[in-house]
Amino acid sequence: MYVWHSPDELISCPLCDAAARKPTLLSGNDFDAVFWSDGRRVAPSLPLPTPVASCHACNRCFWLDDAAVRPDDPDPPLPWWRLVFRPDRRRPLTEWDDAPEVQEPDEAGYLQALARGWTVGEEQERSLRVLVWWRGNDRFRPDPYGHAPLDVPAIPDSDADAAPWLDDARRANMVALMALLDQSAEDRLMRTELLRQLDRQDGAIGVLDTLEADTYPEFVALLRRLCADTEATIGAIARR
Ligand SMILES: [Zn+2]
Repeated sequence: MYVWHSPDELISCPLCDAAARKPTLLSGNDFDAVFWSDGRRVAPSLPLPTPVASCHACNRCFWLDDAAVRPDDPDPPLPWWRLVFRPDRRRPLTEWDDAPEVQEPDEAGYLQALARGWTVGEEQERSLRVLVWWRGNDRFRPDPYGHAPLDVPAIPDSDADAAPWLDDARRANMVALMALLDQSAEDRLMRTELLRQLDRQDGAIGVLDTLEADTYPEFVALLRRLCADTEATIGAIARR
């Protein structure tokens, strides 16, 4: 596995100005990528932060694109030719070692951000609702960030212990996301998995039946298998 990192960027939370480190990537590949039935792709050789982060200081969510690089970043980006000769590790930020790395919000943090009407426009709302859905499904993935092999047993669903509001908000998000999907093949696959997870298997199979036979056949076969298994939480295809 070759992953070449460039130096972390030192960014400011746009809401409270707290400093955090944002990993950046010079090059990677999708070898060993895992494609999950909800559309999330996890590529251990292409590890990038999700577009939304949760601030370690104020606990609120922000889009990473909205976070400015701090003017006092002591470690500005290097030219590529200097990075090529040190691909083995990230260069530490000596004066900012204590600044934590940005973290993706947990599902509850995402849902609270959604409840505050945080998105601007339909496109951003769709992006956020997909991220919220994926984050909730992470509870079924052996290793959401792709550092463990797929044959590790999935984490059991702990919904029985979850607060009722969480389950309600999760399902409301899935229904709202469906309303934002279009008729493309990719969106129909996503709608299928949403319907299946909402216990509407017949509707899910009906959407699959609208796809041409040569459209993502391996993925369609995976979704059909999941629809036939009422115990299934989530499925995956691994590229080796
Ligand atoms: Zn903050």
